[in-house]
Amino acid sequence: MRIQLLPSTFDSQGQATLDQRLTCFLIDECVAVDAGSIALALSNEQRNTVRDIIVTHPHMDHIASLPIFIDDLYPVLTTPMRIHATPEVIGLLERDIFNWNVYPRFSELKNDYGPVMEYVPIPIDEEFKVAHLTVVAVPVNHIVPTVGLLIKDDMTTVAFSSDTFETEDFWKVVNRAPAVKALLIEASFPDSMAALAEVSRHFTPASLKRELGKLSHNGLEILAVHIKPAYRDTIIEQLAALKIPGLGVMEPGRNYEF
Ligand SMILES: [Zn+2]
Ligand SMILES: [Zn+2]
Repeated sequence: MRIQLLPSTFDSQGQATLDQRLTCFLIDECVAVDAGSIALALSNEQRNTVRDIIVTHPHMDHIASLPIFIDDLYPVLTTPMRIHATPEVIGLLERDIFNWNVYPRFSELKNDYGPVMEYVPIPIDEEFKVAHLTVVAVPVNHIVPTVGLLIKDDMTTVAFSSDTFETEDFWKVVNRAPAVKALLIEASFPDSMAALAEVSRHFTPASLKRELGKLSHNGLEILAVHIKPAYRDTIIEQLAALKIPGLGVMEPGRNYEF
């Protein structure tokens, strides 16, 4: 399984930087998990192949450029863009984003080929298919309805925490998988901001370490994501000081093969 955390910030020469302001993971060039930077960072080729987007929750950093992406592709979509999300999240997207005020309600619009956007409600704690992938969604502990994901293809299983603080069901789903190759987990704030991290339902390096005590798999790659750019250096230092085997920081723009 090939996964890239799409870049979301570019320097004055147009080169992607390592700061992550938005969240969008591209899997095997065709499925996106969240859509923060989807309209900014995909190549033209990738824009032609991504037709399935799983939205874990409706926070702006995860959906910022989703409306723009569908707008861009509007005339060329020969099949609808499929938005996979829980019914709750679909309701929030329709109410707050695709509401004719912030942006058009694409789910009601057609181009020459037919509908341009389609919602696919996803179940909780039950397998469903997205393109060639098999996915399980499980609620995590964030301040809006949010799911973590276990995603597998024929060879590999990868877990995505999405945005969360201490949680239980996610680990049950991860731990019951026969093997997990990689865990992409958030580490948003430095340890000095533990109080804010807790009220906004995010991890710090210290709370992430406690949380990883719930993981029963060994030897997997653990990649920290969702690191707030303002505290990036501190968070990376604090993560390194934990000396957790396999723990690293995911680099935006790099292709990871699991
Ligand atoms: Zn969030
Ligand atoms: Zn977020």
